[in-house]
Amino acid sequence: MLRRLIINLQGAVQGVGMRPFVYRIAKELALKGYVLNNSSGVTIEIEGDKDVLDEFLLKLHRDKPPLAHIFSQELNYKEPYGYKDFEIRQSTDEGRIEAAVLPDIATCELCLKELLDLKDRRYAYPFINCTNCGPRFTIIEGLPYDRPNTTMKVFMMCPECEREYEEPVDRRFHAQPNACMICGPHVSLYRNDGTLLAKRENAIHILIYEIKSGGIVAVRGIGGFHLICDARDEGTVSLLRERKRRQEKPFAVMFPDIESVKRYADISILEEALLLSPERPIVLIKRKDSSGGEGDFVPLASSVAPGLKRIGAMLPYSPLYHIILKSLSFPVVATSGNFSDEPIVKDNDEALRRLSAFVDLILIHNRPIHRRCDDSVVKVIGGFPALIRRSRGYAPMPLKVPFRLKKNVLAVGGFLKNTFAIGFDDKVILSQHIGDIETVDTIEYFGEAVQDFCRLYNFKPHTIVYDLHPGYETTRWALSQEGVEKLGIQHHFAHILSCMTENGIGLEEEVLGVAWDGTGYGDDRTLWGGEFMVCGYKGYRRVAYLRPFRLLGGEKAIKEPRRVALSILFELFGENALDMDVPMRRSFNKQELYLLFRAWQKGINSPLSTSAGRLFDATASLLDIRQSLDYEGQAAMMIEDLYDENIKDSYPYEIRNGVIDWRQMFQAILTEKERQKVPSRFINTLSEIILRVSKTQGIEKICVSGGVFQNDLLTRRVKELLCKDFNVLTQRKVPPNDGGISLGQAVYGGLHCE
Ligand code: ZN
Ligand code: ZN
Ligand code: FE
Repeated sequence: MLRRLIINLQGAVQGVGMRPFVYRIAKELALKGYVLNNSSGVTIEIEGDKDVLDEFLLKLHRDKPPLAHIFSQELNYKEPYGYKDFEIRQSTDEGRIEAAVLPDIATCELCLKELLDLKDRRYAYPFINCTNCGPRFTIIEGLPYDRPNTTMKVFMMCPECEREYEEPVDRRFHAQPNACMICGPHVSLYRNDGTLLAKRENAIHILIYEIKSGGIVAVRGIGGFHLICDARDEGTVSLLRERKRRQEKPFAVMFPDIESVKRYADISILEEALLLSPERPIVLIKRKDSSGGEGDFVPLASSVAPGLKRIGAMLPYSPLYHIILKSLSFPVVATSGNFSDEPIVKDNDEALRRLSAFVDLILIHNRPIHRRCDDSVVKVIGGFPALIRRSRGYAPMPLKVPFRLKKNVLAVGGFLKNTFAIGFDDKVILSQHIGDIETVDTIEYFGEAVQDFCRLYNFKPHTIVYDLHPGYETTRWALSQEGVEKLGIQHHFAHILSCMTENGIGLEEEVLGVAWDGTGYGDDRTLWGGEFMVCGYKGYRRVAYLRPFRLLGGEKAIKEPRRVALSILFELFGENALDMDVPMRRSFNKQELYLLFRAWQKGINSPLSTSAGRLFDATASLLDIRQSLDYEGQAAMMIEDLYDENIKDSYPYEIRNGVIDWRQMFQAILTEKERQKVPSRFINTLSEIILRVSKTQGIEKICVSGGVFQNDLLTRRVKELLCKDFNVLTQRKVPPNDGGISLGQAVYGGLHCE
């Protein structure tokens, strides 16, 4: 029986080779009709025998292109229309924009082969791409995803490229950024004083020579500029730190290939898979202590990641980086091109203006970057890959939520490692990494990025959700918006909702949330961060928390572990702490100590906090590992490095009326004879606390979130201890740190009814 079938596909279905694929199978099965992209996805209309239509559907789902993700399909059977042939039709663009905008995807194997093939017409062409790879998110100006809506619109394709683009069976059919040496973008090299040095191949040759001779260069990549130099050269790397005013925060390292990574680091199969994945994130891996005695091995400069065992490693992900790294064949520092915490530089003139102080040479190109996108960071936590920073390669893939949101929401996120999110129907779309929102530049960037998202998705929020912290710039921004409903949500509740959502917790379910982080604003206006909360989507009950202590000097204590340790000593010994012989105490003079004691006694500029993250700081200070911090989480990372899995014991503690009293633990740490065992016993104690509180609640599902759970050893230990009686759910798709709270905020707002 002859039927006509209309199929509407939603998801990541544009720019992934869906239409040529559909064309091929329709032709194979001799079906008539058409396929087209529209703003909600892909529409296919085919007619033929019912059995053949069924076969088409099977092939559609079974054999679809590797990057295609179909989130939903709508099928409508109708009377035949009488199509004569099968064709690919022009895109239509009316209606609601829902088609998934794709992330930027690393150069695929086939393109890489052509790139390195002397006989290929795109040999060594730094902008080679195809339907399966290349830039997307960073070049899209509007939807649907078609060349006139990308920054590639300024390049007229040459006849050869045009032919590939128009030919349905070609692997570059409708590859929007399709280009070649003749018609496409190219690179130019500038000296830091603004003089043009060279163009095209020559530019790359000089750049490579400069890196080889110890220079620092800026290179325009996919989502912005990178600063690049030889990662093995201590002098150069230190100089880069000096110029960028970045003291100790680790630099990412780009390796030429996976073999080279293995010479420098011990990686698991999972870590190898992550490094090679099409998202090509920075993966946090453990560096080797020594090379194993290979002849020409030169170790990484220690200032790449001072004081840490882990390094952030990545592989080349754009043709330009493939060319550069191939001819260097040694690892380079590849850190985002910006001044300390400012947004990554993306435009050419901006680079010449702002980066010339950091570098000797600047390699630019003329394919405009429409929006910034930093590199993503992934770490294996508790046996699973987890995102620490979700950006290039991942953003803006929509996250499907296990229910429908009742309204359109914009969630503004937090203030550190900010992402924001929009939510509608059964999806939440998280922005790329925006960064710490502290400087005028970052506040501006945040506002622009929100506007850009709303324009791209033709999105108008009904509700804006913000963190209750009155000091967050994002909160201020939210409260200043007019003509829209506004809704505040507690910080740690947002962490747990984020974890619940990505783990598919149902609407009526309850979980025990363990939200441990640096600090977040609590309902009682103190700084929370060691919370146990029974959570549903509508609300929560705080059932247990760490015993509060004072943060001496407020904000200062967040940067200085010694202040937290001193506060803990005051809690234990009162005034007697002033005379104790501990390393941290020696870093204060007598008068400072006395003033801090008075401040502690009277609660002057010393807010109460229940933060678990700060307890890591206190421990690092008592062990004299770290008295002040250069970046968030530094002390905790150092403690993690010192964990020894053979040590299973722990310290005593007490829980009374839901208050977890850590005083006995710190007493034990102070008198510990085997100091090298403190980090392990400290982390073991925290894990046991989580087990004990979990046992009091009788809830099977335990959602753990918050920056503290970026700690692999803590997360593993918790899973080990709880696996018998509980189901421990962690964050994987979005970061457990504050980069993930926008998801929880969006879901809360989308389900909220007045
Ligand atoms: Zn490709
Ligand atoms: Zn061309
Ligand atoms: Fe947090």
